[in-house]
Amino acid sequence: DSFVNMENLSKIYPNGTVALQDVNLSIREGEFLCFVGPSGCGKSTIFKIITGLSGPSGGKLDIFGTTPKEARKQSHTSFVFQDHTLLPWSTVEANVKLPLELRGGISRKVQQEEAERVLELVGLKDYMKVLPRQLSGGMKMRVSIARALISRPKLLLMDEPFGALDEITRQTLQTELLNIWQQDKKMTVLFVTHNVFESVFLSTSVVVMTARPGKISAKIEIPVPFP
Ligand code: ADP
Ligand code: ADP
Repeated sequence: DSFVNMENLSKIYPNGTVALQDVNLSIREGEFLCFVGPSGCGKSTIFKIITGLSGPSGGKLDIFGTTPKEARKQSHTSFVFQDHTLLPWSTVEANVKLPLELRGGISRKVQQEEAERVLELVGLKDYMKVLPRQLSGGMKMRVSIARALISRPKLLLMDEPFGALDEITRQTLQTELLNIWQQDKKMTVLFVTHNVFESVFLSTSVVVMTARPGKISAKIEIPVPFP
């Protein structure tokens, strides 16, 4: 019984570009799934469709029994981009609380508790009052991850999150991310990367996409690295 299910999903952009063609993919709850493939193979397009930012041209997509737009409205999906997109004039604390504030109806007390919870998870509880520019690249990425986690998403989408970091920081963050994912057995992570080594290290399954537009050639199951 699958959590996200794509059936013959296709996406043709208005200019005629075929970005996805007959994609069939089934994702289970709690998986850590990496998408690997060359640039232009349709990884971002799949993400945009899953988050409801773009509609498919054909086929079916079911995410936990609802539509992508509905899942996003209910804050069940969160994303993290390579460019951390933090508000420069807001403190770490304010940046992290933003999704709850935008959702509305959540008391200041709960916002505070939740901000402390997620900043603890990423090891930045002592940096609540600091501005993003006072942080290193790795720390900004941790804040961005904390902001994505604050709404307790069922589905966390990460688009090349560590692509701009140096090798050591990248490895540290990979391990931290795995630890966070293992604490919440129900969170499903979809992670786009160019780095095959990274995908093998992180994921329970790797989806390989080929340069032919939008074709998934294989879904390879990998034994969970930390049982
Ligand atoms: P990836 O994320 O793997 O690099 P994308 O999903 O961004 O791939 O793109 C898949 C294909 O669709 C590429 O050929 C790209 O140029 C094209 N494409 C992406 N977005 C648009 C758009 N809005 N309009 C037209 N073509 C697009
Ligand atoms: P759609 O609503 O059709 O899914 P998007 O929201 O993905 O479109 O993209 C919005 C706009 O961004 C497109 O109309 C297109 O002009 C532009 N765009 C983004 N990426 C590309 C690309 N790789 N090639 C051409 N145009 C692009």
